[in-house]
Amino acid sequence: MRRTKIVCTLGPSSTTLEDIHELAKAGMNVARINLSHGKREDRLKMLEIIRTLRKESLTISIMFDTKGAEIRTGEVEHPLPITKGQEVIFSPNRLENEKRTVISVNYSGFSQDVRETNRILLDNGEMIFDIVKINDDGTVTARSQNEGQIGSRRHITLPGADIDLPSLTQQDWDDIAFGAEQDVDYFSLSFIRRAEEIQEVRDFLTKHKSAARIITKIETKQAVANIAEIIAVSDGIMVARGDLGSDLPFEDLPSIQDEIVSRCHDAGVPVIVATHMLESMIEHPSPTRAEVTDVAHAAMTRSDATMLSGETANGKYPFKAVEAMDRILRKTESYLQRFPLSPVVGVRNDREARAEAAVSLAFATNATALLVFTKSGQTAREVSKFRPNVPVIALTNSTSTQYKLCLSYGVLPLVIPFSDPESTVHEGMRAAVESGTVSSGQNVVLLSDMQTKDAPVQSVQTRTLA
Ligand code: PEP
Repeated sequence: MRRTKIVCTLGPSSTTLEDIHELAKAGMNVARINLSHGKREDRLKMLEIIRTLRKESLTISIMFDTKGAEIRTGEVEHPLPITKGQEVIFSPNRLENEKRTVISVNYSGFSQDVRETNRILLDNGEMIFDIVKINDDGTVTARSQNEGQIGSRRHITLPGADIDLPSLTQQDWDDIAFGAEQDVDYFSLSFIRRAEEIQEVRDFLTKHKSAARIITKIETKQAVANIAEIIAVSDGIMVARGDLGSDLPFEDLPSIQDEIVSRCHDAGVPVIVATHMLESMIEHPSPTRAEVTDVAHAAMTRSDATMLSGETANGKYPFKAVEAMDRILRKTESYLQRFPLSPVVGVRNDREARAEAAVSLAFATNATALLVFTKSGQTAREVSKFRPNVPVIALTNSTSTQYKLCLSYGVLPLVIPFSDPESTVHEGMRAAVESGTVSSGQNVVLLSDMQTKDAPVQSVQTRTLA
């Protein structure tokens, strides 16, 4: 069983039932729907297909990724040609008598926020402009470092600047309400900068009776500065390296990635490493050697998940990209098995102490799996935190919990009926053997939170599979 999970972004290369089925067969655990593109009808169609595949026993969880408050260029009839060294004007308003090329922007506070940086990046650095002058009329004069073309709605980054826009737009709130209604499993939130913004979303979800889990995308300098508070209130973190690598010097990315992964382990919060992992596979059937090493690095630091974006959304080889990621992760994990002791993480409370004890017991008794009986998924996540070198088979009576465990490292979530404790244990052991992950006669460690009349009875024990 592969421990590191795979998130695939759906898009034009993966729209039909057959496409999404292929992605799932190749190893997709979580389907990410990027709300920056497409219409509501497209999302409904994707949700319908995933629900159909779920009925065929494919465990696919659904992530809605919000658009967030982005600064974008305006609509143009034809792409604007730009030459190297050309002086252009960025403006939030129409300019009638300007002879130079005017690049319109969708944000009136642009010239204020630009003061905190010296460059303007388009599409994460595809085009870079040096700021020449901030003008009194709210426009900005800038010089292009390279030649290129600017089409409609290009994404603008002001590296390092604290943008004054609220992180969540009306469109985001509408999308979150729609996702809550459609019972999606995760919301990944774009351009979050502060913990309070996550709390607002949590309150909104509670009001909309949604149990969806909140994944915070770390893609700004401010989010990195507030990382401890953000992790403390998030259900998961995504290292969104595309935007983050534009907001910060790119050489800062590797150490920030590893630090976030390590902080998430310590907090027991699932972490996804995202963007450009197999970028060349958008065009080519096999990855570059550097990409292979990048995916392997994420596995070696025991990230919960790695993500594909353009590779599966609009690439030429979506299935090959998932297969490649699956192969790299499996091979790297088999190498890690030679180092059974995982990164040292802190124990913060009694529950985590018990989870750590269960993982140590599995190691000491040569158990082949940890079987965790869990209603909410919490106990399975606590065990996953200690990165056992054997699979964590999470047995739950809720499909909602099953889908919400699809991101957690090393967790295989299975649904079984819950009845009296002993029958439930037998049912769980049967399901574990049926999954093919363990075999009869092997030793396993059981961990459960069985509810008796008065209180949950937390127990850890070893058993031999029937
Ligand atoms: C990123 O910037 O790395 C990212 C995942 O965000 P998006 O793909 O939504 O721009």
